[in-house]
Amino acid sequence: MNKKLIVAIDGPSGAGKSTLSKALASQLGYLNIDTGAMYRSVALVAHQRNIDLQDSPALKSLCADLSIEFIQEADSERVFANGMDVTSAIRSPQISLLTSQVAACKEVRDAMVKMQRQMGERGGVVLEGRDIGTVVFPDAEVKFFLSATAEERGKRRYEELRAKGMAVNLQQTINEVVARDAADSERTHAPLVQAGDAVVIDSTKLTIDEVLKKMLDVVKFREKNRA
Ligand code: C5P
Repeated sequence: MNKKLIVAIDGPSGAGKSTLSKALASQLGYLNIDTGAMYRSVALVAHQRNIDLQDSPALKSLCADLSIEFIQEADSERVFANGMDVTSAIRSPQISLLTSQVAACKEVRDAMVKMQRQMGERGGVVLEGRDIGTVVFPDAEVKFFLSATAEERGKRRYEELRAKGMAVNLQQTINEVVARDAADSERTHAPLVQAGDAVVIDSTKLTIDEVLKKMLDVVKFREKNRA
């Protein structure tokens, strides 16, 4: 019987992680865990409570009481923070920028990593984020690092936000992607780095289906050949 694995997908924003991890989890019958949505939920709740994002003790106590749930619906996945549906609210450009700030806080990371390990420890999961293959599950059986040029990632994000009816500007969206890359790569705690044993896929010139096929081939091979 094929064993259910832990699949880690890391990479910068806009590389296609969310779309691909959902599609991969659905094809494999695995649970999909969007860890970025967890950091975004912390940022949203902190913002709603007017918490200073430099105030680590306040962020730590916010996380201690925070419940985050993913509810799978037929054609979408909803995120609930403390029982409140935050699926759309956590995606605004303002919350995206605040998220990189809370994600730099060690206390927040410790709390999220603990939750992510509890959610994924039994396997049969695809987790997407920045530090899954390096920190959360360094022994994950399959690790992917998805990348694409900053221009391409900014363009994708711009089109995604526009499709949702948000008023956005292309150059500004590219600049925000670059700013988030810098914040995520240069922070002290669990910066975005590629795991040495990750399968690297540059999606700049590939379609979603082409990337998905590459990923499925790798996972199926590992499922069959797992000791
Ligand atoms: O993946 P997404 O763009 O939704 O992530 C939002 C932000 O959350 C990232 O820019 C990063 O600052 C933070 N994040 C993180 N570690 C993760 C997932 C997301 O620091 N595992």
